[in-house]
Amino acid sequence: MKLPLTETPLYIDGTWRAASGQPIDVYDPRNENVLVSMPSATAAEVHEALAAARRAQRAWSRRPAAERGKFLRAAADLIHRHRDHLAHLISLEVGKPLEQALGEADFAEAFLRYNAEWDLRLEGEILPGDTPGETIHLLRVPLGVVGAICPWNFPLAVLCRKLGPSLVTGNTVVAKPSEISPLSTLAFFQLLDEELDLPPGVINLVTGAGPTGQALVDDPLTSLVSFTGHRDTGKSVMARAAAHLTRVSLELGGKAPAIVWKDADLDLTVQAILAARHTNCGQVCTSAERVLVHRDVLKPFTERYVAAARGLRVGDPFEGADLGPMVSAKQYEKTTAAVALARQEGATVLTGGGRPEGGQYQAGYWFTPTVLGDVTPAMSVMIEETFGPVTPILGIESIEEAVSIANASRYGLSAYLFSRDYGTVMRTVNDLDFGEIYVNRTLGESIHAHHTGYKESGIGGEDGKWGLLRYTQLKTAYHHYGTD
Ligand code: NAD
Repeated sequence: MKLPLTETPLYIDGTWRAASGQPIDVYDPRNENVLVSMPSATAAEVHEALAAARRAQRAWSRRPAAERGKFLRAAADLIHRHRDHLAHLISLEVGKPLEQALGEADFAEAFLRYNAEWDLRLEGEILPGDTPGETIHLLRVPLGVVGAICPWNFPLAVLCRKLGPSLVTGNTVVAKPSEISPLSTLAFFQLLDEELDLPPGVINLVTGAGPTGQALVDDPLTSLVSFTGHRDTGKSVMARAAAHLTRVSLELGGKAPAIVWKDADLDLTVQAILAARHTNCGQVCTSAERVLVHRDVLKPFTERYVAAARGLRVGDPFEGADLGPMVSAKQYEKTTAAVALARQEGATVLTGGGRPEGGQYQAGYWFTPTVLGDVTPAMSVMIEETFGPVTPILGIESIEEAVSIANASRYGLSAYLFSRDYGTVMRTVNDLDFGEIYVNRTLGESIHAHHTGYKESGIGGEDGKWGLLRYTQLKTAYHHYGTD
């Protein structure tokens, strides 16, 4: 597989450059081999990228929106044409099964196409003035420069989720991929540079870890920090952004409950939760992290779920596995520790529990699908985001109990509900304090809906019309033209 060139990983003002900060190793999660060592941007280099974006922004926003939409469509076409290559890089750096990586490339393309369709739909308002001879215009204008800080789990999709609305509304961008999975982003930028005639400075790329992200947040040239990542990093971003009152949009973690009511279609429910827990090896912000099952169906549900989990194939992401390795040693160790603590607190391991057996799994970050019984709501595995293929199952007596346990969380991103009773569904959807609720289906948000977390799952929200508008602000112009 052809890796992108990494000697000059910074794309600033339309030019590739070396970075002078610390190099960071990028690993192959299948075997812990170092794929490349990627230098990081210093704060000064981040500032240069922001300055280039700032210089380019006014001319970019003056272009007719249709031209910006045209660019996004061309960028979407590029992803379409290079789908296989980009998906292979995503699989390689994240450990994601290739089929899911291809799905991510499609998702990324769709974000660009959807946002391009807003090019002729960005509307302001005209109000009658309240003095004679006056009209008031409310104009939708860009914010300026967007600092797009991305996580490792959906490197290309989350990047395009931010690039689409930023660019169509007339902002320019400095993007920072995760230091863990920067290759697909780098490859995409190389394609954009080679194949599209984009004015210098409109999109810029800086590589690096936390300090590079911090430099983007701290710099007053950044107008909006569009951040997706961990809750604690999000809090630090918000605190530091306060220094200049820079806007933030934070898409953070979750602890999604999946409530299984006694009348649920168990075949559908088992498959839906299985996918919602094991996609990308459990490393999705909307993953079903805790399953609350009515006691009447606890036994059959658990038996079927355990059997289905045992049937999942852990293996090479390029060879048709259901689960590849976890992304990093850190995630592997975090998940191992979560299972050990759950055991210590009294949970029973019904299947899985850690590294699969076999020589091919001794190196790399492999983890078997793990199901836990005998859990209580007070256990850490029911409270903290695990972000790995671990499913704790808890019996519940009533929907009120389920809702109360579900809502007793610092997180509020997504929730799942399985029931055939319309009244139960409608009442429970009303009562769940979560921004995104999946009823009788598995995970997977739509580009034109809204992806948002309540409480410590974030501030802001992406996608659809409301996500797009977050990349704009209103400007009021009072046009006084007189009465004669
Ligand atoms: P992370 O917070 O460790 O890193 C995210 C990004 O922030 C990376 O690019 C990282 O380099 C950068 N960063 C690290 N420290 C920083 C700092 N102090 N200032 C600025 N930037 C900094 O998160 P992660 O491990 O990459 O991602 C996993 C987390 O992201 C999980 O909690 C997951 O639930 C969440 N997530 C949320 C969504 C969502 O849409 N809500 C989507 C994907 C992932």
